[in-house]
Amino acid sequence: MIDIFVPFTKIGEATRIALIGYDYRPVDVSGDDFAYGRHFAARWAQRQDFVNVEHDCIPWPGAIEAIASCPEPWCTYDYSLPCLRERDMHHPTTMVPLGCAKIGADLMIATIDIWKAPCHWENCDRRITEEARALGLEVHQHFPGIVNANSALDQLGSPWTVNEVVPVEEIAALNLRRIEQLNAQGFPMIGIDVHYLVELLEGTLAPDAITRARYRQEAWLASELDRVESAIRRGTLTAPLSQQGARR
Ligand SMILES: [Zn+2]
Repeated sequence: MIDIFVPFTKIGEATRIALIGYDYRPVDVSGDDFAYGRHFAARWAQRQDFVNVEHDCIPWPGAIEAIASCPEPWCTYDYSLPCLRERDMHHPTTMVPLGCAKIGADLMIATIDIWKAPCHWENCDRRITEEARALGLEVHQHFPGIVNANSALDQLGSPWTVNEVVPVEEIAALNLRRIEQLNAQGFPMIGIDVHYLVELLEGTLAPDAITRARYRQEAWLASELDRVESAIRRGTLTAPLSQQGARR
């Protein structure tokens, strides 16, 4: 199995749950704003394929295996959020996200010098994207996207940052649609995607909104979280992951 690195200042609970069963390497990048860039410099020095999972990202079961086993040298997922999805990865203004991405040795060798200058954590995606594009390299985007449970994404206009309670019915309907989509795309998942919606809700609502939302959704969240976590744990043991044979 490919090396999985989780650079972090704080690994989110949802990320930890999603990575149950994976032998990943946490990399503390809390020291300063350039530590994330140094993490990549170290990977580039090794020139070994790796998967990068950021500390607030939630890969769906099988997402890591899909990019790890892909022959392309540079693979990524977009973030699947109400405010941020279905972006054109090849558009010049789109910086290819590193939240759940596979970087292959060929890409690193082609861009071997890009970390010589220190890089602020906010610019790491830009540096890789621009240098690779300058060489005519394009990323290979995988679907569906993964969730980035970063509350800062509120600023991008997430409809979850509402002042009203998010209707449970709406979330349940969204979940059902997403499960149907995943099944149509060949990912046999039943209910598992509630996880993303729950984390989406918790991760993107402002704290005071969470308090308001919890009143109505507390029971629903509690039962769904239990169900989802057990589904994820089962997912480490049963299809489709075992069919892919990519887990350690
Ligand atoms: Zn790929």
